[in-house]
Amino acid sequence: MSIVRCGPENLGHDFHQIKLAGINSASIGIFSWSALEPEEGVFDFGFVDDIMARAKRAKMAIILATPSGAKPNWMAQKYPEIRRMHSPGRNVAPLREEQCGRHNHCPTSPVYREKCQIINAKLAERYGGHPALAMWHVSNEYGAGCECPLCQAAFRQWLEKKYGGLKALNEAWWTGFWAHRFTDWSQIGMTDGSLPAMVVDRRRFDSDQMLDFFRAESAPLRAITPDVPITVNMMGTYLPLDYWRWAKHVDVVSWDAYPAYHDRPETAVTTAGRFSFAHDLNRSLKGGKPFLLMESSPGPTNWMQINRLLRPGQHRMKSLQAVAHGSDGVCYFQLRKGRGGCEKFHGAVIDHVGSEDDRMFREVAALGRELKRLGPVLGARTPAKVAIVFDWESRWMLNAANGPSAFAKDTDAAALGHYRAYWKRGIPVDLLNGDAKLDGYDVVIAPQLYMLREGFAARVERFVEKGGTFVATYLTGIANETDLVFSGGLPGPLRNVLGIRSMETDYLYDDERNEVVMRPGAPMALAGVYPAAYVCDVVRAETAEVVATYGRDFYAGGPAITVNHFGKGEAWYVAAAGADDGLLDAFHGALARARKLKRALPDCDLPAGVTAQVRQTKTGRFIFVINFNNDPVVLAFKKTRRDLLTGRAVSGRKTLPAYGALVLED
Ligand SMILES: [Zn+2]
Repeated sequence: MSIVRCGPENLGHDFHQIKLAGINSASIGIFSWSALEPEEGVFDFGFVDDIMARAKRAKMAIILATPSGAKPNWMAQKYPEIRRMHSPGRNVAPLREEQCGRHNHCPTSPVYREKCQIINAKLAERYGGHPALAMWHVSNEYGAGCECPLCQAAFRQWLEKKYGGLKALNEAWWTGFWAHRFTDWSQIGMTDGSLPAMVVDRRRFDSDQMLDFFRAESAPLRAITPDVPITVNMMGTYLPLDYWRWAKHVDVVSWDAYPAYHDRPETAVTTAGRFSFAHDLNRSLKGGKPFLLMESSPGPTNWMQINRLLRPGQHRMKSLQAVAHGSDGVCYFQLRKGRGGCEKFHGAVIDHVGSEDDRMFREVAALGRELKRLGPVLGARTPAKVAIVFDWESRWMLNAANGPSAFAKDTDAAALGHYRAYWKRGIPVDLLNGDAKLDGYDVVIAPQLYMLREGFAARVERFVEKGGTFVATYLTGIANETDLVFSGGLPGPLRNVLGIRSMETDYLYDDERNEVVMRPGAPMALAGVYPAAYVCDVVRAETAEVVATYGRDFYAGGPAITVNHFGKGEAWYVAAAGADDGLLDAFHGALARARKLKRALPDCDLPAGVTAQVRQTKTGRFIFVINFNNDPVVLAFKKTRRDLLTGRAVSGRKTLPAYGALVLED
């Protein structure tokens, strides 16, 4: 399951070391266009032929990349239209980029699309029947955004298709404001930040246009090798691309994860929670299907401000963390450190020296031996009963809004706050798009779901009526899909199921605090006083029961948490943000007990910084227990289970070393 990404140099020695490291697959060809096509129409596949032949002899699987992530100099010089254009500043006309860097081609250029299709067809024809070919790795870490005349024209066509006519567009975008009403399609540019609805449509277009480019460059692969799966390496919660839409067009979800485990001011446990969330997101993109950790580093990266060494054991810990959350492999960038270029100091399986005696190599080889024992876990799913709605379009919209508060707009931090309450208890969580079905979950949480899609509230009502628990927060249910604020009272169409009306909202400075005071006899035995920060929604309970009230300011005594009994279920509204994890931890902890949510490891209390994740097949249930702390912890197991990694029984009191992990067979 251990996979590397490698280059053409030192191949004989590299393949010897690949075998020693227990590596069974390699991704090749990324950024290799200037080698594959050194001059226009002149192709040289020699190094790929060589690697494919060696891989076949070594019984390795090759994930063969298409080279579009970086365009060759001769092409950028001859066809300037393939280079992106960007506005260098507010209200300034776009300029053409110089040829440099990577990930900067225009997604619309017919020339670049044609060049990609030619070389991809040649790769598919040459290697489509090769026994070592396992999967296509199309391009690399797609980004988005170009403001050239071709993209401008494509944006206008995209808008015309969406709105049908300018009347509908003017209404949806509220263009009468500041006299921006459009009377001709040619008046619509790409850079006007004063129309938030336009900014969001631009983001939709940018994501869609790059997706369209990906589909165009994949077309020859689909046609010539219909049975070879396709992946693109994604980047977690990367804002510019709506991965929910992308995932429908890839066969295997893969992503690149580089947790530093030393970021300041983050703690190792905070970093762990953030990356577990992103792993769960990748698993959720295709409805729970296992994903692939396409890129990671056995050592430090070179692109952070400070690139500290991973402590011994942390590489193993973060690799098993990915598998715990649904990855069916552990892959690395890169096999061998290059001697030059801007990633020459980036961690790799093999150092510049080429020795097997380096710590990174030894740790990769040791992990390779352990991963071989995890065969029964391949293909296993995660039985989540809790879901968090994480909608890219809603993120874009809140992000594009002028105001209301810099602190309150961080939707990712808000989602993570809710996520951590379950993650630390070992209760599995799925992520959902705003258009997803809610059936099958016990608890659905919508943190800062600013934009509500058509039909979302109706689905929530059916979910709650049938016995589900829905949790919404401040800044949920503000606007429709074109960023028009709901006029029937907030939280818009969710007002009925939540049984409240948001009257006005107070945004606090960083150093200000309010209090959330649980009422005596509150449901689920909620009790205590919790500091609130950043945002306090001033709410009127309509049909909802008041569970907690504010402790300070002119709205003291007003509802801070409510619950509405609706059909067989409940809809909760958390009106304030906690100043730390205390409020959400208490709330979701009580909810988990009340709803009897199943923990991955029910017979063992998890110390802070230790998590348990579960993956199961038809025949097996596997519990990954990982200690993210810098110190050992003692766990007390009531049940005896076998650790797949060592084959030994685990029961009673067990010391888990710093960064230690167990994979228990239940
Ligand atoms: Zn363009």
